[in-house]
Amino acid sequence: MSTKRDYYEVLGVNKNATDEELKKAYRKLAKKYHPDSNPDNKKEAEAKFKEVNEAYENLSDPQKRKMYDQFGHDGPQGFGGAGGQNGYYSYTSSGFDGFGDFGDLGDIFSSIFGGGFGGRNSAKQRGPRKGADLNVRIDISFEQAFSGVEKEIVITRDEECIHCHGTGAKPGTSPIKCPTCHGTGKITGVQNTILGQMQTTRTCIECHGSGEIINEPCENCKGKGKVRKQPKIKIKIPAGIDDNQTVVLRGEGETGEKGGPKGDLYITVKIKRHSIYTRKGNNVLCEVPITITQATLGAELEIPMVDGTKEQYKIPEGTQTGSKFTIRNKGFKSINSNNSGDFVFTVTVQTPKRLSKEQRELLVQLAKTMNEQPPIKKRGLFG
Ligand SMILES: [Zn+2]
Ligand SMILES: [Zn+2]
Repeated sequence: MSTKRDYYEVLGVNKNATDEELKKAYRKLAKKYHPDSNPDNKKEAEAKFKEVNEAYENLSDPQKRKMYDQFGHDGPQGFGGAGGQNGYYSYTSSGFDGFGDFGDLGDIFSSIFGGGFGGRNSAKQRGPRKGADLNVRIDISFEQAFSGVEKEIVITRDEECIHCHGTGAKPGTSPIKCPTCHGTGKITGVQNTILGQMQTTRTCIECHGSGEIINEPCENCKGKGKVRKQPKIKIKIPAGIDDNQTVVLRGEGETGEKGGPKGDLYITVKIKRHSIYTRKGNNVLCEVPITITQATLGAELEIPMVDGTKEQYKIPEGTQTGSKFTIRNKGFKSINSNNSGDFVFTVTVQTPKRLSKEQRELLVQLAKTMNEQPPIKKRGLFG
């Protein structure tokens, strides 16, 4: 059974309250319990505030309200995609530390608090922040994409200053608490809104929201806590990678802020064109020239594979130009599975341009047996 208070009770309205009445009640209570309006009683206000939000979120949605009226708090699980444990609670409480995440309610708040409600931003400015991601592009050969390759690249990124360990303060000194905001990084003021006077919070100009001031900056990083570096990074490109695919190296991006994690490095791979092979999915395609006699009599061909090995392949008598043959599992490895593509070659019959006297005689004989007109002699035509 739920120990939750009835949503109507929370908002102080009756079961037949109109949308307008709900909104009015909600605004009044949200203002009353907003933690910024209750600096001395933050914890309790936070809990109330959360309760009010939840009640309003459920009752302001006609479908959720209908379900709530019908089933109460212990409604059908997973109703309406709300996803909460009780099926109604759609915004996760984990976002509530330091007023982080209001989900869809953010819009309501900005309308109530005149846009001065910057909970999420100011909280993030002060706390640890993940470093930015970096993007680079590398070119590799067709064979390297086929077999996989290790590459070393040089990137430019900020790294934590080893002299001050990222604090920005001269070694032996520490940053001090900002006297303007008393280390909170925020300045509280009063703003006139539609609801009357409201407390608002702005980022401290003195410390830019960090809450700290560095009196003696580290000489190595000039107080920034980080320095520009050009490290060499080893990248393993897996066999089978395709053009424009991306390899991600976690933690190889820009350094984080305030002890936050490092960003990631995204490497987009460009594969150079090959003079013989092309790629279609995981198949390798190529054209293999054959002679008229190979085409006519059949032949054992030696086909060069992408990895440098050779495969014997027997083409039959009477092979036509343009015929395709497949050597199984000799294409690209699939990155996501153990399968491999195939090697597909197309034969093209080459018509000889120069013949020895003997070859020509033999072909003339052959032509006679095929009841063709004898070919006109070159000399006769041009000479
Ligand atoms: Zn430093
Ligand atoms: Zn400050």
